[in-house]
Amino acid sequence: MSTAGSNWSQNVDYRAARLHLPRTIEEVQSIVAGSPAVRALGSRHSFNTIADTTGDLISLEQLSFPVTIDTAAMTVTAGAGMRYGELGAELQAAGYALANLASLPHISVAGAITTATHGSGNGNGNLATSVAGLTLVLADGSLLTLSRGDADFAGAVVGLGSLGILVSITLDIEPTFDVAVNVFENLPWATLLDSFDEITGAAYSVSLFTDWSGAAVDQVWLKHRVTAAAPVSDAASAGAFHGATPATERRHPLPGISAEACTEQLGIPGAWIDRLPHFRLDFTPSNGAELQTEYMVPREHAAAAITALRALGSKITPLLYVSEIRTMTGDDLWLSMAYGRDTVAFHFTWQLRQAEVEALLPELEAALAPFSVRPHWGKLATPDAAAAAGLYPRHADFVALAERLDPTHVFRNDFVDERVFGAHA
Ligand SMILES: Cc1cc2nc3c(=O)[nH]c(=O)nc-3n(C[C@H](O)[C@H](O)[C@H](O)COP(=O)(O)OP(=O)(O)OC[C@H]3O[C@@H](n4cnc5c(N)ncnc54)[C@H](O)[C@@H]3O)c2cc1C
Repeated sequence: MSTAGSNWSQNVDYRAARLHLPRTIEEVQSIVAGSPAVRALGSRHSFNTIADTTGDLISLEQLSFPVTIDTAAMTVTAGAGMRYGELGAELQAAGYALANLASLPHISVAGAITTATHGSGNGNGNLATSVAGLTLVLADGSLLTLSRGDADFAGAVVGLGSLGILVSITLDIEPTFDVAVNVFENLPWATLLDSFDEITGAAYSVSLFTDWSGAAVDQVWLKHRVTAAAPVSDAASAGAFHGATPATERRHPLPGISAEACTEQLGIPGAWIDRLPHFRLDFTPSNGAELQTEYMVPREHAAAAITALRALGSKITPLLYVSEIRTMTGDDLWLSMAYGRDTVAFHFTWQLRQAEVEALLPELEAALAPFSVRPHWGKLATPDAAAAAGLYPRHADFVALAERLDPTHVFRNDFVDERVFGAHA
């Protein structure tokens, strides 16, 4: 193992010669200015080599940076290496919330937003859409601050770590809110295909869990915002949901696995920070014996894409732990997987059988190709599928922005050279 160790799932050993743990922004500036090849390392939750470098890796987990809430602007500014769970706890203590979260609260804010990490909800953008401002350390060690509305902002938020080191991020906040989670089981596939938008629009955040076998989706998780006007969700009191039956005890997404790691369910209301992630912050898996892939297609093609994937079910299921289907609104962030289109995301948590998984991915990608499929930047995909030029209308603008901010390519690595910059590398 290298000096910098490996990623969370231990399928990538970082090749960096040095791992730095700066405590101040000035230290970050000095390391960057003195390095010919540098990347930031977040909380190591990506499944590919996107964070890798052969030079210097900079982790901001020890950066000293105050959390500042601006109640007039309704924003919070924090150190970019902070994890969502820690930031969320501070916001909740002060009476505020973020609009949405990913499945795991342990992921760093910078690592999440730079790859357009997302939660779910027909009316929710991915986590990067909450960014109101950011500060980068550029290749020469200088600082660049951008705010929403600035010309380069929409290109810089989902920057894949290739524009500079994010040192602070400003996020939109709102007053704290409660969420109640209801889980239903055995939603017939035919019903989902007929009523996809209605089902994924039935709560603030909706997740569907399946292994692609059988006649029904295993679980539907409905995360309702609890308001004064609607203190108990309709789903909590209803006997069934589109033919699916309410779970009588807490469920893990994987059938038969204890739900002790999961956040509260059974319609019991609780703070957003304790309900929007699927997993509890105080349950910290140090690493995971799993791999992940995720593909985004326009939501209007959801039923056709599901049908295409179900046709491959006999090949998918034996390699799979579980799949999750989520939705998000379209956005204007140039390299966001939801750029310009309301989106459905097909997530696969695979068994640690990387060669077999990678052999199957081209078939999945071919099945989804008619829908202009965009792979998640932080997960496994074949390089061809992830080639960005044809998938992202603002790709050329992103390349030009990267050339301007990083003319000597110190923030490039093999991953982004291959999948993003191509001939421009
Ligand atoms: C168990 C698990 C659950 C997950 N759940 C979800 C989910 O619900 N939704 C979803 O969309 N994804 C999910 N992911 C994927 C994950 O959110 C992304 O891979 C994300 O990029 C990981 O962030 P990280 O902080 O671990 O960054 P890393 O994996 O460490 O790095 C990712 C990228 O961010 C860059 N980066 C990190 N910090 C900085 C910085 N300060 N400045 C500039 N660039 C930086 C790195 O250089 C690299 O390019 C999950 C992953 C795991 C392991």
